[in-house]
Amino acid sequence: MAGDGAEELVELLPPEFTREVELAAFHCATVPKLASSELPMEWSFDAREVLCGELVKLLQKEPLSTEFQHLIRVRKPSDDPEQRQVLLSLATSDFAPFADLGKFLQKHGAPVETVHVPRHGALTPTQLQSFSRHWPIKNLKSSFEPLKLPEDLRKAYGELLRQAEEVAGGGSGCIIARRKEGRQAEFEVLAAAKSEVSEAEPLRHAAMAAIGAMAVRAKAAADAQKRPREEEEYLCCDCDVVLTHEPCVMCAMALVHSRVRVVAFREVDSDFGGLGGAISLHQCPSLNHQFRVLRWEKFEPCGVCHYQTRRPILTIDKGAREFSSHGRDALVKSTEPCRMED
Ligand SMILES: [Zn+2]
Repeated sequence: MAGDGAEELVELLPPEFTREVELAAFHCATVPKLASSELPMEWSFDAREVLCGELVKLLQKEPLSTEFQHLIRVRKPSDDPEQRQVLLSLATSDFAPFADLGKFLQKHGAPVETVHVPRHGALTPTQLQSFSRHWPIKNLKSSFEPLKLPEDLRKAYGELLRQAEEVAGGGSGCIIARRKEGRQAEFEVLAAAKSEVSEAEPLRHAAMAAIGAMAVRAKAAADAQKRPREEEEYLCCDCDVVLTHEPCVMCAMALVHSRVRVVAFREVDSDFGGLGGAISLHQCPSLNHQFRVLRWEKFEPCGVCHYQTRRPILTIDKGAREFSSHGRDALVKSTEPCRMED
């Protein structure tokens, strides 16, 4: 049953939203401090900034490739804010600066070293904070942050799941609900349906049937107001949909088209699921509507430690060390005790 402690409601995000920092090696020049005797008379201001600007201007000839546009080219190292380090290019074993750059580095005796910088841009504020520790990056899309799921909202979704199970009667069920005015965790149920696939109706999956019930509802409302239903009146605007099973690709597309706000489900369909199981339609940038997806994730005993916890995700890092992860942010070495989930 939902909410009995054996599972937890989590948001399904594409892996790039939850990944840990991955580093790439870059050549980096440290702008030297000039002796005052080397300074031209007119340089009464910070000579290092001027040299740094000169180097950055030179590097405009070799902009960073599109995959590294998130990197800020110049940094002041935290251990020596007087210094300026400038990214040159992706590290190669045979670094050969282009002619003008070579001359600049030689003339000013600027040492070139290798630094490790974030390979990917940050998609969430959490990633921005974590990735920036290695090298400053631009704040690209940090408006995105995983949904907050306070306890009362988890309980409300748990109750909707219970109702979906009830209507499903052992099969597959779907509830469409809308938050009550001004409430974050109180819902009004608008439609409930179960899968009733038959030879005559092979497409009557639970989600399709529930969306059908919403259409009947919308038509009744329009009829009561003696007006035709507008084509732009999407059926499930601001609605949350809770299902016992992951919607298939067809149902997921119908949910996209009816403009749902959030979808939550329990059982994954790795063969035909349209919301993370087989493909992820909810975050598809080429579709004109995106929505958030939640799933009740089962807890299992961890294979590394004895705690009852979320299924460990084993990944191998570049140094061939194995990690066991109990959650998005709990990445621990398998040789160390795993951190228990709160
Ligand atoms: Zn379906």
